[in-house]
Amino acid sequence: MQLKTILNRVQKHQSFVYGPMRLVQGAQLAIEVEMRARANSRAKCSGCGCPAPGYDTLPARRFEFVPLWGIAMFFLYAMRRVDCTRCGIRVEMVPWATGKNQLTDTYSWFLARWARRLSWKEVAEVFHTSWEKVFRAVEMAVEWGRVHQKLSGIEAIGIDEIQWQRGHRYLTLVYQIDAGRRRLLWVGEDRKVKTLLRFFFWFGKERSAVLRFICSDMWKPYLKVVAKKAHEAIHVLDRFHIMSHLGKAVDEVRAVEARQLKDKGYEPVLKNTRWLLLKRPENLTEKQEPRLAELLRYNLRSVRAYLLKEDFQFFWDYISPYWAGQFLDRWCTRTMRSQLKPMKKVARMLRRHRPLLMNWFLAKGAISNAAVEGFNTKAKLTLRKGYGFRTYRAMEIALYHTLGALPEPKVIHRFC
Ligand SMILES: [Zn+2]
Repeated sequence: MQLKTILNRVQKHQSFVYGPMRLVQGAQLAIEVEMRARANSRAKCSGCGCPAPGYDTLPARRFEFVPLWGIAMFFLYAMRRVDCTRCGIRVEMVPWATGKNQLTDTYSWFLARWARRLSWKEVAEVFHTSWEKVFRAVEMAVEWGRVHQKLSGIEAIGIDEIQWQRGHRYLTLVYQIDAGRRRLLWVGEDRKVKTLLRFFFWFGKERSAVLRFICSDMWKPYLKVVAKKAHEAIHVLDRFHIMSHLGKAVDEVRAVEARQLKDKGYEPVLKNTRWLLLKRPENLTEKQEPRLAELLRYNLRSVRAYLLKEDFQFFWDYISPYWAGQFLDRWCTRTMRSQLKPMKKVARMLRRHRPLLMNWFLAKGAISNAAVEGFNTKAKLTLRKGYGFRTYRAMEIALYHTLGALPEPKVIHRFC
């Protein structure tokens, strides 16, 4: 059996055939495969895709293909130029590569698929290529996927923000969170009114009009834009965001109190208790459980804040909105009397946004509750894994690639 037989099986090209092949020993061992145009075929213009009369032939170029047994593989081809009646003198179109790309499309897809499982740096190492080439491959896959993705039938979206780099730089992420389908739809730099307006501009008026539910945080610019651009939809303040506000408030109480105790020379009971107070009790480790029980015996401000936070969890489990509302009001009253400033701040915020908070009960069942939280975790992980993303563009591409559930072209053979 010849290599040509395999190549023809996995990747046959119209109007082109595989010519002679050889093994060459340069800096690395490589297989070179000559590509030849079929004798009776006319070159196609890369501008419009139409056959056109020949003009001249350029020097041979190397196009990198999927490596075989760890041996780099290249297609060698001298591209023809055509004299197109529409586009003028243009280089011809070849079925295995796009534009000036040195990688064949198949190899780009190969690298991009691996980049879902490994970091870009690891992919580059494993396949003896550069980080830059892996990035270009992923970028190609994302661009193709975003053009070909279907955006119909989206009824629920979640808006989230995450911090990136050090300092206060934010990203706005918009997810589809319908019960049956979840994916990242859009990434934007910053978290201003302008940012979210850009999402709605991209999403379009017609699609925005059929949105039924929108989840977000109490962040004012988001509330403003949602009210303006999707007033038909029910705006929900979701569990994940509210609970993270409460978590932050508890943490603030704890940090201040720990410092005060230390200054007054008391026993450092609050040392290393941060996660005890932030985690849900059911998520504590075996070692943490008794430590929390011990801590709760103290009459501390941190403990009171913690108990208020945990008590609020009951809110989400109510079936009847009426009783949930009663619970909410009682909780807020109690918290306002707690003399815990950060907690009071959250209670005031909840009171102010009571109607949006109560919308949670209208949306029950229609949206996947844990979706926003799950995406938030995954997005942060993606950013952490790729700490090499120095540019916004690279980060944006990585997020779409891992969370966008983007489509891929149908192929005869999958290389990985
Ligand atoms: Zn043309």
